[in-house]
Amino acid sequence: MHLAEMRSLPQALAMLFRVLQAQLSALWLCLAPFSCRLRGALLPGRSPPLLEEGAGAPDGAEVPTVPTSVNYHFTRQCNYRCGFCFHTAKTSFVVPLEEARRGLAMLKEAGMEKINFSGGEPFLQERGEFVGKLVQFCKQELKLQSVSIVSNGSMIRERWFKRYGEYLDILAVSCDSFDEEVNVLIGRGQGNKNHIENLQRLRKWCRDYAVAFKLNSVINRFNVDEDMNEQIEALNPIRWKVFQCLLIEGENTGEDALREAEKFMISDEDFERFLDRHREISCLVPESNQKMRDSYLILDEYMRFLNCRNGRKEPSKSILDVGVEHAIKFSGFDEKMFLNRGGKYVWSKADMKLEWQFTEDPILQTLMCE
Ligand code: SF4
Repeated sequence: MHLAEMRSLPQALAMLFRVLQAQLSALWLCLAPFSCRLRGALLPGRSPPLLEEGAGAPDGAEVPTVPTSVNYHFTRQCNYRCGFCFHTAKTSFVVPLEEARRGLAMLKEAGMEKINFSGGEPFLQERGEFVGKLVQFCKQELKLQSVSIVSNGSMIRERWFKRYGEYLDILAVSCDSFDEEVNVLIGRGQGNKNHIENLQRLRKWCRDYAVAFKLNSVINRFNVDEDMNEQIEALNPIRWKVFQCLLIEGENTGEDALREAEKFMISDEDFERFLDRHREISCLVPESNQKMRDSYLILDEYMRFLNCRNGRKEPSKSILDVGVEHAIKFSGFDEKMFLNRGGKYVWSKADMKLEWQFTEDPILQTLMCE
């Protein structure tokens, strides 16, 4: 129908709008694939998804899971006694250094880009020498993009930074409260050590030795009402991971557990309230219970993957005995959940170019704070 034949201006405009809409849709369908690829290429530190939807393996073939980012809990021993701890001192075993290096090299071979050393307390073994040598090996020999440690911070000395700081990308320190009495209530402490004073010292050393500083907090019954805005802003971490207190059968709940964490638990609504109170902190990364259960690839002290999907830690065989590809099938790891929770971020200090404290580039800030 010609426009002139229409009875009213509104009818003519409606027709024009429909024609334009159809043409724009067609154009978008042509450009969409390029747009996705461009986005991946333009954002630094963002890799395309490891498994693209619908781009599976040839019929029936299994796509091996890639251990891109691994958390190696090489010791269960700790000098603190946090009441909600979900990786408790059930053994005192630590793989010998050479074996640990062999396992790490196997993981690198299978595609590992990031390693995080955790515990227990990683600095307890040989007063930090063990973890220092592993950090150096992973950076110098394996040339991993990112090497990080999660620690309660109480055993780290400045001489460690002098010796190993250059090989470490990120140090994450646990702190659940800026009220020392609450830390004592939780069990985050040992003797007269002041956890918060220690945190300030570590923050300074991270600046002095060019190590990115990250903060981890577990939100529980005793700190859920706290307002931490001021202190977090002053510490200025690259990332503030905020975890919801989690029950794991056999670790902090149940008959054979070493802790009873029930009294620390909070509801999802309580957790949301805490997050809402801190919504202005741009580097806050929330971790709900669901995200924590299946989006971490966890290796225990025997170098076995731990599957936490059923609410308890079920181990695979050791990668040292059966290889990475076989062991990882039992890890319960959800690669999509890992990517969804922002598991891939700017995790190498070389990429941060140590501008992470000062950058005003909004894209870079967003990426670093994922
Ligand atoms: S510092 Fe970490 S490993 Fe040690 S008891 Fe506390 S939660 Fe557990």
